[in-house]
Amino acid sequence: MKTSLPSPDGLNCAAIAFGSNLGDRVANIEAALSKMREQNLRVTKLSALYETKPMYYDDQDPFLNGVCQVETSLEPLPLLDRLQSIENELGRKRIIDKGPRTIDLDIVLYNQDHIKHPRLHIPHISMLERDFVLRPLAEILPNQHLPSDFIPNGSNRTISQFLQSLPEKDTTMSPVTVLHPDLPLIRVRDATRKTHVMAILNLTPDSFSDGGEHTDLKMVRASVAKFITAGATIIDIGGQSTRPRADFLGPEEELARVLPVVRAIREMNGADKVAISIDTFHSDVARETILAGADIINDVSAGLLDERMLSTVAELGKTVVLMHMRGDPHTMTQLTAYPDGVVHGVARELSARLQAALDAGIPPWRIILDPGLGFAKNQAQNLELLRSLRQLRESTDYSSLLQNYPWLMGPSRKGFVGKITGVAEASQRGYGTAAAVTASIEGGADVVRIHDVSEMMQVTKMADAIYRRP
Ligand code: ADP
Ligand code: MG
Repeated sequence: MKTSLPSPDGLNCAAIAFGSNLGDRVANIEAALSKMREQNLRVTKLSALYETKPMYYDDQDPFLNGVCQVETSLEPLPLLDRLQSIENELGRKRIIDKGPRTIDLDIVLYNQDHIKHPRLHIPHISMLERDFVLRPLAEILPNQHLPSDFIPNGSNRTISQFLQSLPEKDTTMSPVTVLHPDLPLIRVRDATRKTHVMAILNLTPDSFSDGGEHTDLKMVRASVAKFITAGATIIDIGGQSTRPRADFLGPEEELARVLPVVRAIREMNGADKVAISIDTFHSDVARETILAGADIINDVSAGLLDERMLSTVAELGKTVVLMHMRGDPHTMTQLTAYPDGVVHGVARELSARLQAALDAGIPPWRIILDPGLGFAKNQAQNLELLRSLRQLRESTDYSSLLQNYPWLMGPSRKGFVGKITGVAEASQRGYGTAAAVTASIEGGADVVRIHDVSEMMQVTKMADAIYRRP
């Protein structure tokens, strides 16, 4: 019987739980997902990736767990065979029961079937006691019921209801986001997490605040070394100014500025663990810089200015920053009408871009959100966003679950800071920026994007010490 799990095309619909706690956990999970896709398991829904404490056998490293929904023509046992062969190809060895594993792929649900076979129990026998299965499952199939004969007393609860009634919850469990393979994951719901500092490296001769400073590679290397020593974990490289009314470059010219710098940083001693972010809205620039070693694409248009942007990031398997704006840098200053208030407007419009990114195949653990201070916002709206980041971050109004994602805030040296402080010269706006960085961290920012790295690093450390406590 194939009922409430959606299965257009007459295919079977299964929910598969994945977990890893050995080696590069994200790489293991992403490799398993691409093998599943290659082998005709169509991934139609994908949950966030949660970091969870080990259950049953405590003496092992934390897990990453998630759930996906797949459509498949395979019957249950051949599906199990295929998943087990993927586990083996990825080097899984069973040493301790419930012990460390490079990858575990379990079938949690299969249509509405209830299966008892020596090799296969569906629904998965212990899913109802595991919040590391129920939470991601509730994210993608909240209203799903289990086969009626699976629950002894015939309870008709949904997955969300089972999750809510779970007696023991892992309170440390958090969705995570990847910046770089060797950097700690951002643990979005962890109240003790440290704020990441993204240092701005401008390669533009016309940037509003420090244009023309980084014109040769020696200066670039010196700046990057200083940023890393100060504590920056991300370097954001921009070859195209997005200040209001900036001239647009073509992708070729932008790439000619940016690519040598990406290569130079990747060859630097001591810079292998820094995440390289590329501030671009051109998919060709994204592609070439990722191939040269960039980790993050920071797109001020969230994919709106180049229709191939999101699919390019998805295909190359990197992280994207989706910033909220309207129009483009030529038109944005006029587009500031938010009938329901700027917080709701940004939440709604950014949710749509988030959904577009997920639909393009970017996994949830590779998406960062940015409300776009100074982009299609007036003075009062910029201040409102700074004041109300918490509300945006905790928003449950949209099905795309803004709560599971980290937020980047970019107030540094912007015009609204200059207006309030009366400082015309952008490079002199450090104190105003410091206040905005502090407000961002109080509101729950996960990443702050800044120019004055050593100064704002101090501000960030101080704000973290005040606000980021258990
Ligand atoms: P774990 O229980 O930690 O997932 P394994 O992945 O080693 O451990 O699985 C042990 C056995 O569980 C497998 O050999 C498989 O036959 C059996 N099994 C029973 N039901 C399922 C299911 N729903 N999904 C995956 N494996 C299952
Ligand atoms: Mg298993």
